[in-house]
Amino acid sequence: MSSSLCQPGKNLGCSACCGIFNLQDISRENCDRVLKYFTGNYVHGSCPDTGDGVAVPCTGNETVVRDFTSHICPFQGYLSSGKPGCLAHPLVHHGDEGRHLSLFGSKICGEFLCPAHSILDTHMRQMLIDCADDWYVYSVGIIDPLSFTWIVEECRSLHGQVRGGKRNPVAGALEIHAAYLNSRSIPVFHYGLSEYTAAAVDFSLASPKEHMDEERNVIKSFISGV
Ligand code: SF4
Repeated sequence: MSSSLCQPGKNLGCSACCGIFNLQDISRENCDRVLKYFTGNYVHGSCPDTGDGVAVPCTGNETVVRDFTSHICPFQGYLSSGKPGCLAHPLVHHGDEGRHLSLFGSKICGEFLCPAHSILDTHMRQMLIDCADDWYVYSVGIIDPLSFTWIVEECRSLHGQVRGGKRNPVAGALEIHAAYLNSRSIPVFHYGLSEYTAAAVDFSLASPKEHMDEERNVIKSFISGV
């Protein structure tokens, strides 16, 4: 929660750097289930119980996470309905800091900015906020800003403009992309810009690789029909 991209207002919020997209199953339903679990278990000022009933990395179950060297923070959850973020953040508790109990601590959490901050300029950030239907679609644009940019350019070339609002093509295309990301078991959220741009070759719509052609064609067809 360190910039306007993290909690942009509206009904949107992000906890991607808290590791929610490090789950092996990153479907909307599973991410929602885990966020609800963390929300229900959070007690300010104490470390949450992460051992039971939900897919978390500390179980050691290989099917649970995408990257075992990374983390899924149990301090993330819903700040309000459909708005993920850090449950331990001082802004949520009238200035009382709770992140010092987390793995990364308050300093690292407070100062971190994900690659989307480097890739999306002010105009593109606002476009993502305007087009995202909800937190899930928004977060997909955050974790894979090169695909979001590709989708926007495709909308411009097919429709001459990009519109937000209900049932807009950008949100629909991000939803389709999310399903493809879920079907690939590789890590899809990366903390560093160079790490992300190198890895995105394998899953981003902007990738030059041919294995992305099928998904590109599906999304082009979707955008042209909206
Ligand atoms: S992934 Fe990026 S936008 Fe989302 S909470 Fe972390 S720093 Fe903010």
